[in-house]
Parts: sequence; structure tokens; C-alpha cells
Amino acid sequence: MERRAAVSLAAAGLGVLAWTLVPAPVFRPPGPEERRAALGPLDGLGEAERRAYAEAGHEPLPWPGARDWLVAHPEAGQTFEQYLASRPPAADGGRRVLYLAPMGAQAPALEPLVPFAEAFFGLPVAVLPEVDVPPSVRTRPAPRWRVRQLFVPDLLDLLRARLPRDAQALLAFTGDDLYPDASWSYVFGLASLSDRVGVFSTARHGPPFVAAADAGGRGRERAMKLLAHEAGHMFGLAHCVHWRCLMNGANHLREFDARPLHLCPVCLRKLRHAAGFDPARRYERLERAFREAGLEEEAGWAGARRRSLEPGR
Ligand SMILES: [Zn+2]
Ligand SMILES: [Zn+2]
Repeated sequence: MERRAAVSLAAAGLGVLAWTLVPAPVFRPPGPEERRAALGPLDGLGEAERRAYAEAGHEPLPWPGARDWLVAHPEAGQTFEQYLASRPPAADGGRRVLYLAPMGAQAPALEPLVPFAEAFFGLPVAVLPEVDVPPSVRTRPAPRWRVRQLFVPDLLDLLRARLPRDAQALLAFTGDDLYPDASWSYVFGLASLSDRVGVFSTARHGPPFVAAADAGGRGRERAMKLLAHEAGHMFGLAHCVHWRCLMNGANHLREFDARPLHLCPVCLRKLRHAAGFDPARRYERLERAFREAGLEEEAGWAGARRRSLEPGR
């Protein structure tokens, strides 16, 4: 989701022209060998960690539908080895806190997301006071919609000035629609990995962009998904093409909703490298957080993974 979704809309006309000249690359879901290669060799790991990367409970990625992310953006993915080579921003001793901040009056409630985020990343999570959007932030009406949009570079400047010293990252969430550049119609969010700041919008999870009937009842689940996916990017995880996974890209809300709220073995190995949690303890906490949020299917999934890691199994 985020920046390239907007590019593809802005460049839709050009895309049609390019297709007539150059055959578009086609995404092909990887097979078992490619998935194992993406996970990398496990020798040298302890028995418990090896079992945390087992394939049981994970579903291969299906062929994408015509409007789905991997048709619009046939990404190559990122193996565990490539992840290490990218020198991802790990949560080191001095920078271990994930900070969340509401931005603007329409911001989603963040406090209810804290237990889930702490379980997911195995790091302390704190909510900062609301970041006001001052009149100096540039705005415009959204193309085709009578909705105000905020200019993302101005928002990232506000966040850079507030980054706490112990922050692994600072993620701001707003209910306002966003644009990153005059030529783009909108953007779901944008982050600067090197500056450890990002801003993400829930505006397009609800009216007027989607019908109220589609928005109802899923607000908290969508906010959890948005938070974990975007914070995953802040740890250097690229989009996943190996399994059905929280880190899959999503081109539209239906695809976003179809993504699971958990990580595949490849992405779990990356996040564990960056955040350093104990996988069994993590699933135990996630099971509780999902149950508390009323997400029974995800709670059952996390419980099954936790049990598969019990000693003696
Ligand atoms: Zn993404
Ligand atoms: Zn994955």
C-alpha cells in the first residue's frame, strides 16, 4: 500500500501506453524450493528457533487477481539474506521504544492498540500526546473528493522534531487524507526509514472513500493491521511475496482486509532479527491480544503456533 499505489493511479494513462511497447513482467507465486531459499539455511539455530520457522499453519501465496498489488507491482520480494544485506534498523539498546502519535482531530484511538503492538514487536510501545496540525502545514482538496488532504513532507518535518532519543521509530496516525506531491492523487502513508518517522492515514478505510457498510465493525482490526504492516517496514521488512502474510502489499481495501494479521516464516525471521523476541512468548502474548480484540480466528492461529513451540512436542 502507500506510495506506489498512488503512483500507479497517477501514471495509469502512461501505463497503458507502456504495455503496448514492453511486455509487462508477470508475477508468479514461488514454489516450495523458492520459499525455503527465501527463509535461508537454519543450521546453527537452536531447536526452538528452527521450529518457530516451520511451515505448518502458513498458506502459500495464491495467484493475484487482476486488480491486486502484485499485478500492478510485480515485486521480486526480499529473502532473509537480502534483508540482512540491507543493514536494517534494529532495535538496539538505546533505541527500543516504538512511539505512536495521533495526528489531527480525526486521528484513530491508539491506546487500544498498545497491547497488540507490544506483543507483536516484543518491544515497549508508548503513545505520545496528539500532534497538532498547524496552519503552516500545506493542504488541498482531494482530487475527485470534497475532502481536505494534508501534505506529507510537512508532517514528516513535524515528526522529526519530536523523535524521542530512545525511539526505534515514531509512527503518526491520522484520519485525514494525505498527498505526497502535487502530481499524486493520494497516498496511504509515507515513512523515512533513515529518520525513523512515518505518517499513515486511516481516511480511506471509511466514508466517503468506501461505503459506510464496508467500514462498519472492522475499524480496530484495520488499524492493527495498518500499524503492524507499517511498523514492519520501519524495521526494514520489504513487501512479502513468499506466503500469505501481513507484509503482502495491498492495492485496495478488499486485498488489505484479506491479508492475515500475522507474519510468514520468512518475515518472522526478519523481525526476530531486528527486535530480538522469544517466538513462543510472542505467540502467547499475541493470542491474548487477539482474543481481547475479539479476533478469534487470529487468536486460534496464534494459540496453535504457541502450542507447536512447547518443549517436548
Ligand atoms: Zn507496505
Ligand atoms: Zn512474509
